[in-house]
Amino acid sequence: MKRILIIATGGTIASTQDGHGLAPSATGRELAAQVPLIADLCDLDFVQPMNIDSTSMRPADWMRMRDLLVERWDAYDGFVVLHGTDTMAYTAAALSYLVQGSEKPIVLTGSQQPMASPFTDAKLNLYQSVLYACDDESRDVSVVFGGKAICGTRAHKQRTMSFNAFDSTNYPPLAVIRNDKIVRAGRLAPEPRTGARPRVYDALDTRVVVLKLTPGLDPTVFSLLAPHCDAMVLEVFGIGGIPAYDSSYQDAIFAWVDSGRTLVITTQVPEEGLDLGVYEVGRPYADHPGILRGGDMTTEALVAKTMWALGQTHDPARVAELFYQPVNHDRSA
Ligand code: ASP
Repeated sequence: MKRILIIATGGTIASTQDGHGLAPSATGRELAAQVPLIADLCDLDFVQPMNIDSTSMRPADWMRMRDLLVERWDAYDGFVVLHGTDTMAYTAAALSYLVQGSEKPIVLTGSQQPMASPFTDAKLNLYQSVLYACDDESRDVSVVFGGKAICGTRAHKQRTMSFNAFDSTNYPPLAVIRNDKIVRAGRLAPEPRTGARPRVYDALDTRVVVLKLTPGLDPTVFSLLAPHCDAMVLEVFGIGGIPAYDSSYQDAIFAWVDSGRTLVITTQVPEEGLDLGVYEVGRPYADHPGILRGGDMTTEALVAKTMWALGQTHDPARVAELFYQPVNHDRSA
């Protein structure tokens, strides 16, 4: 029988109502006891590094999960991380960069309704996550939720209440899961496992901010943020447009990158990605040294990848090399 480690961190799945609003209290072991069928799938162990609303999840918590994965790697065939949905896409992306090329599945799941709710989605999500983590074809970091397996770099929380909370952005889901059947698209044969260990990284530069353009936004915001940041992920309009009614944006953005800071440009439109070459209002930024293009990546993955790349080096050429290298299907060409 396979051995799976449940890393329980909290979230709605573990939450109970105590009169002050939902807050996590159930442990991973208690949650698994509510889904007895998973005991037929594998041998389970549990570790509980925290029990928090994922609203309060920080990069230091991603590192604790990474440490647990590294410490327990050899003892398990796969890992299931129980996590709040609100920042699950960030954690899934961060783990994708911190633990790369994993032959063992690292599956994140949670639920929109607490395990104790009469209408909960927690039972099926937990069951299907363990099922997916036990499957020989599963590997790398993924989110299993609402009957879909989504690549860890492509998940995005799209809905606050519905059970299909997550979309797979600009990339097809890895599988759909119908009850206890995993249906994968387009794979002829599973890649053989070699027993190789993943590449693990132990540094993130967390001085990364996300800024969303809004009409008329004062560009002095760049110089206000600069002392606190090494990098910005800038969500621009449409396929790639930055206001050009005067030169103030261009001056502010070029000053940002010329000061040695990283600027990643992405679109604030949820689907289909960026192309700075299409419009005159995007072209000046397309090939400016120091500006990185987000392509069709999610903002969550861009934040995590920028933290990871800057955690390795601040040399702009090397940052660009790391940034454009595809990891866990995070970007199309
Ligand atoms: N606030 C909760 C959390 O992210 C929401 C959830 O888990 O669905 O921890």
